[in-house]
Amino acid sequence: MLTGSYSPALVVISLFVAILASYTALDLTGRIATAKGRAVYLWMAGGALAMGVGVWSMHFIGMLAFRLPIALGYDIGITALSLLIAVLSCGFALWLVSQPRLPMWQLGFGALVMGAGISSMHYTGMAALRMTPGIDYDPTLFGASLLIAVGASAAALWIAFNLRRNTPYVRLARSGAAVIMGVAIVGMHYTGMAAARFADGSFCGAIVNGLSGSGLDILVLITTLAVLVIALLTSLLDARLEARTAVLADSLSQANEELIHLALHDTLTGLPNRTLLSDRIQQATQWATEQDGCFALMFIDLDGFKPVNDAFGHHMGDQLLREVGLRLREDLRSQDTLARIGGDEFVLLVQLHSPDDAVRLAARQVGLINQVFRVAEQELNISASIGIALFPGNGVTPQELLMNADAAMYHAKSMGKNGYSFFDVSMNTNARKQLQLLQDLRNALEHRQLKLYYQPKFDAGSGQPVGAEALLRWEHPQHGLLMPDKFIELAEKTGLIIPIGEWVLDEACRQMQVWYAQGYKSWRIAVNLSALQFCHAGLVKSVADALERHQLPPNSLTLEITETTAMSNADASMTVLQKLSDMGVDLSIDDFGTGYSSLMYLKRLPANELKIDRGFVRDLEHDSDDAAIVSAIVALGQALGLRIVAEGVETDVQQNFLTRLGCDSLQGYLLGHPLPAEDFMLEICRERSLSSTK
Ligand code: C2E
Ligand code: CA
Ligand code: CA
Repeated sequence: MLTGSYSPALVVISLFVAILASYTALDLTGRIATAKGRAVYLWMAGGALAMGVGVWSMHFIGMLAFRLPIALGYDIGITALSLLIAVLSCGFALWLVSQPRLPMWQLGFGALVMGAGISSMHYTGMAALRMTPGIDYDPTLFGASLLIAVGASAAALWIAFNLRRNTPYVRLARSGAAVIMGVAIVGMHYTGMAAARFADGSFCGAIVNGLSGSGLDILVLITTLAVLVIALLTSLLDARLEARTAVLADSLSQANEELIHLALHDTLTGLPNRTLLSDRIQQATQWATEQDGCFALMFIDLDGFKPVNDAFGHHMGDQLLREVGLRLREDLRSQDTLARIGGDEFVLLVQLHSPDDAVRLAARQVGLINQVFRVAEQELNISASIGIALFPGNGVTPQELLMNADAAMYHAKSMGKNGYSFFDVSMNTNARKQLQLLQDLRNALEHRQLKLYYQPKFDAGSGQPVGAEALLRWEHPQHGLLMPDKFIELAEKTGLIIPIGEWVLDEACRQMQVWYAQGYKSWRIAVNLSALQFCHAGLVKSVADALERHQLPPNSLTLEITETTAMSNADASMTVLQKLSDMGVDLSIDDFGTGYSSLMYLKRLPANELKIDRGFVRDLEHDSDDAAIVSAIVALGQALGLRIVAEGVETDVQQNFLTRLGCDSLQGYLLGHPLPAEDFMLEICRERSLSSTK
């Protein structure tokens, strides 16, 4: 029998190759586990190739390490077949461990297939020697080599399956596992080799035209290393790319979530906004229809929020709204939705057992808001008006339900605020009327339906007319003559007040020019400005243009702004007022005494006139408080060097009292009603002739 020997260097190299191949295989299973779509198959094919080449070359280098006293060669065809077997069994192994689960029976079956694959690769490789006589195998060692192959395969599959996810220390674990797997593969090979017995006088048939000669080992080694290193590098780079993609995808999904939150919530209070609310109403409708349940939609509007906002500034207003949100949330259940859908408008969506629940909840919420708020050291008192629409009954779509709750809220407001109302069909027509009115108002300017009426102002002492206040009227084709309280708020809400206000200014100046030309050169025409006009950038220019167009001296024009308007955003008002005052226009603080005046600001305002609110004048005779307030206002105005005007003078007693107190001018129904320009002049002339005959 021929005795073989081993080249120790090649044996060590074969072990090294086996370990490297095992590591590569484990790394690739990690790639396959996290890859998606077609990449899975690419990784599997590439992995099978790399690993197959690795295992096979371990075996081939192991063969090269084996020396017999005779020359050896390897049949190319059979060697190639052994390589193919190695690649296929590795491919099978990779496929198996990339399955979502690996139960015991599957592991056992896989180990059998893979062990058989490796063994057949080995013995096919041996057959490539084409020995005559054939190699004789020792049955025990042969059997042992098969067992080792199957056992090593089972271990390898189990390890690969469990290490395929990226867990902490996965690299270290894979390295350890690779050593064990490598040793097992090498063990199988050398046990198989030990089983082989070569008879004396054996002849290697592949020596003639097979692979042989020195340098073959180096060639196989280099090729193998190249394949394994490329596979490993690709895997590493891909893993890094994947990690980076994962980070990006993570931050993207986070940004996405934030965007969705922003799109569905109000930034000030963090409560759901109108969009999310509609969605919830939709869901509630569906739920109530299917489960035969009911829910209420409560439209909550704050009373008295605007004055607070105007007087204390937006910052306080914002804080107050946040507090209101918190308080309203207080006794809600998690399935209820509280949304903020506009300035001081909140909407509550609540599931109900019975409509009575809605009564209790609404009463509680009204009570909650009515308790004093403490914001930035200030005590603020507001209240809420709530309109309630019920489902089923008060509408089908979210829009309809909301519109009806809104209409009910308006009803609650008109009933004196600080309370709640349930929706009723009659309210709907109200909302519809408002909408129609708005459409008509849009056309009013163009169709020349707006008119100015003039109410005279008289010098308190002499009784002589000193000018007039221009008051807006709308000659509505269906509803007749409409007073400002019917449409000014609507015009302000929709911004229509800007073009309307410009028209008023122009028309009043035109009329004043007519009177000016008739000789009433000392008269002043007073025009009311709304808060929105006052904030509008073009105001100063509009005023200058109107004066210029009608060739009026600036002090023929008095602009009346309410106290609240002047005090809100006091610094900005100051700039505008200063510009108007520099121009020479006369400024009057209207409705004085109703707002939250601060003396500090009042002193700095470049105003010329204070107009005592007609509310104080009305109750002068009966209410001693009002009399005291009026005398205080007069004293204050005089101290600040302002003209004092009293409006709403209806009786002789009022006239005398106000004159005695020292008011400069008077205005009111007693002295003259607002009238169209033509009648105004007739009336003045009549008064004149009356007083001259007195
Ligand atoms: P205001 O500026 O306080 O105007 C005075 C209001 O009191 C006028 O009502 C006038 O008719 C009424 N009035 C006059 N004398 C008496 C009286 O003796 N007793 C009573 N009870 N009332 C009297 P009007 O014309 O209905 O105007 C209401 C409000 O509409 C005005 O209040 C003003 O704030 C606003 N307004 C009127 N015209 C315009 C306008 O052209 N532009 C703007 N922005 N607002 C206007
Ligand atoms: Ca006025
Ligand atoms: Ca007034």
